[in-house]
Amino acid sequence: MPELPEVERAARALARAALGKTIAVVRAIHPSLKRKLDPASSRRAKGRQIRTIERRGKHQLLGLDSGDTLVVHFRMNGDWEIGTTGDELDRFARAVIELDDGTRISLVDRRALSSITLDREGSSSLPKLGKEASDATLDADYLAEVLQRRKIAIKPALMDQSVLAGLGNIYAAEALWEAELDPRKPAAKLSREKLEKLLTAIRLVLSPRRRRPGRYTDQAGRERFMVYDREGKECRRCGGTIGRIVQAGRSTYFCPQCQVR
Ligand SMILES: [Zn+2]
Repeated sequence: MPELPEVERAARALARAALGKTIAVVRAIHPSLKRKLDPASSRRAKGRQIRTIERRGKHQLLGLDSGDTLVVHFRMNGDWEIGTTGDELDRFARAVIELDDGTRISLVDRRALSSITLDREGSSSLPKLGKEASDATLDADYLAEVLQRRKIAIKPALMDQSVLAGLGNIYAAEALWEAELDPRKPAAKLSREKLEKLLTAIRLVLSPRRRRPGRYTDQAGRERFMVYDREGKECRRCGGTIGRIVQAGRSTYFCPQCQVR
């Protein structure tokens, strides 16, 4: 599932391919995306220049010269495929953006859960989003303030996009492991010291070049996680056994031995 680093990479690739260019065609192909990007919206975006490309949480925002914004969310499986209008269309292409220079950007998504919508100038379909998890100004004061109101455990609180934008199931688990924090601990009860530790851990797990590459990639260069999806395996820190629980309907992986309350 795309999380913040993947969405950030996708937004950068999109910017390289599309920034400053003009939309020749934008259309939804799959019925579920057509409901979100109807023919009237497609017509409205046609001929417009893409002025800005930004990421907000896991949303990608394409700012058009009309003042409208194309808003894209990959959900579980979405990704961009960037090619030209002469290429064969990917069988899982759910929407396409064709540009005036012949570039074709396909939104590919095996499960067709992604979304693309056109927000008219002055309106926004974005949900309420907290500070970006990758924001350099994010500090323990902010975390303390947003978490003290939450009467839930720290793991689902970290995944709540209105608390912190961009952190998903994988990186929330990884950050809690790095910070040696029990995912079941009430969010409002974390000490200032623990919040500082958590903040450092969030930065570590989101850093593009992880600071301990030997421990994060295997010999084939594939990314590996410290705790995510490692149920029953040995904890890479203490040798304990990684457990799995379900919180807010999602699997949480953690080490009951070294991630203490
Ligand atoms: Zn452990």
